[in-house]
Order: sequence, then structure tokens, then C-alpha cells
Amino acid sequence: MSAAGLLTVRGLVAGYGAAPVLHAVDLRVPRGAIVAVVGANGAGKTTLLRSLSGMLPLTAGRITLDGEDLRGVPVEQLVRRGLAHVPEGRGVVAELTVDENLRLGGLWRRDRADAARALDEVYQLFEPLARRRRQLGHQLSGGERQMLALGRALVGRPRVLLLDEPSLGLAPRVVAQIMALLRQLRDGTGLTVLLVEQNVRSALSVADQGVVMALGRVVATAPAARLRDDEDLRHAYLGF
Ligand code: ATP
Repeated sequence: MSAAGLLTVRGLVAGYGAAPVLHAVDLRVPRGAIVAVVGANGAGKTTLLRSLSGMLPLTAGRITLDGEDLRGVPVEQLVRRGLAHVPEGRGVVAELTVDENLRLGGLWRRDRADAARALDEVYQLFEPLARRRRQLGHQLSGGERQMLALGRALVGRPRVLLLDEPSLGLAPRVVAQIMALLRQLRDGTGLTVLLVEQNVRSALSVADQGVVMALGRVVATAPAARLRDDEDLRHAYLGF
């Protein structure tokens, strides 16, 4: 793991209007690690991911990917550099088939042969998608839609996956599958993941590092296992 981190954030200030939502957020996502960002509703987790993926402009601060400054880089370029954002609500195109949705994830890639390989790999990884490749997005279950959103991001061979609430609305069994898959991707391909979750237990069970946010600030950063066991912190910020 690089000491500097693959993705680093320093003094990030961002929001939607005059008053910032994020206040001087610092974060380091080591290469090949899963970092979980947890915290109460409205803590600023989604806003953080939006800022990282270029959907929201920064008011102040610095974001680097592998040492390169990302400030002002257009969203499309961020994707090409390896940042993939799977937003909350997942953004699956309901009128397109599973196959068409997945191919969208690789449309921008020049290396067509590798895009095809990546597509095959996603079908191997998500067997339910392979069985439903001709079905339309709206015909899928919630868990399948989450797989599809994740799969579409993977077709682009990202270096860092920004994942917003993958467990939202899913049954515990499906959540466990998704978390196991993230671990498999990290261990098998060295994928780096920044995972935002309301489902704190699940997130900390799969993550290497945990980051606790409250009111737009990072209030704790620690190995995930330590956060899981820290009763004071859990009571103060995580509600269990
Ligand atoms: P949740 O899990 O509920 O989504 P969160 O930690 O992801 O919580 P954010 O969604 O980032 O929190 O919200 C942080 C703050 O920003 C909240 O006060 C919220 O009201 C505000 N906010 C979020 N989206 C917008 C928006 N599009 N316009 C204005 N304010 C927003």
C-alpha cells in the first residue's frame, strides 16, 4: 500500500449553495483498501462522493488520485483516469437491457478488446446478470439492479470505486452477497473502494478502514475493526 494513498482529500469544503456542507474534510484511501464512510443521515457522506466524482465543484481543498491533482478535471476525464461513481439509487437505465446497461460502462474506452474482456468478467462475477442479459432494467430485482450498477462501473476497469449506499433497500442476504463481492474484488483484483453506508455493521465488517462523519466533518478515522469495537464512538455517532 502506498503511504500517500491512492485517493487523498485535503481540506475539502463543498456544498450546494452559500453555506458549505463539508467542512475541511481530510481523507486517505490506500491502494487496494476498502474504506467505509459511515455516519448519521445528513452527515455529508453523499456530498463527499459527489465532490470526489466531479458532480459538485469544490469551494476549497485538494483531491489527488495517484498524486495527480483532480481539481477542475471534467467528469468525463475523471472516469477515464479511473474514478467510478455508483450513486445512491444506482442509475440503471430501465428501458435498456442488462447487456446494454453494462456496455454503457465501457463505451468511452478505446481498448475495445479489453472492454469486451471486462464485460465477460462481469458476467462471470454476477451470474444472475448473465442469465438475464436480455431483460430490461426495470424487470430486475433491487439486488440485481445493484449488481448491474456495480457491474457497469467495473466494465470501465476503475482504479477507485465510489459506492453510495449499495445496501439501500436490499434484503440482508443480498447485502451480505454484495459485501462479500467487494471483498472478493479487493482481494482478487486489488480494487480500491470508498464505500458510503448507512448499514454501519455491514460496512465495517467488510472495510479495512472506517471514517466517521458528523455534520460535514470527519470525527474519527480508524481501522474498521477498532471502530466496530469502540462502544463510545458507536453510541456518540452511529446510534448502536
Ligand atoms: P443520507 O445518508 O441521508 O443521504 P448523507 O450523510 O449522505 O446522508 P448528504 O446527502 O451528503 O448526507 O447531505 C448532507 C447535507 O447536505 C444535508 O444537510 C442535506 O440536506 C444537504 N443536501 C444534500 N443534497 C442537497 C442538494 N441537492 N441541495 C441542497 N442541499 C443538499
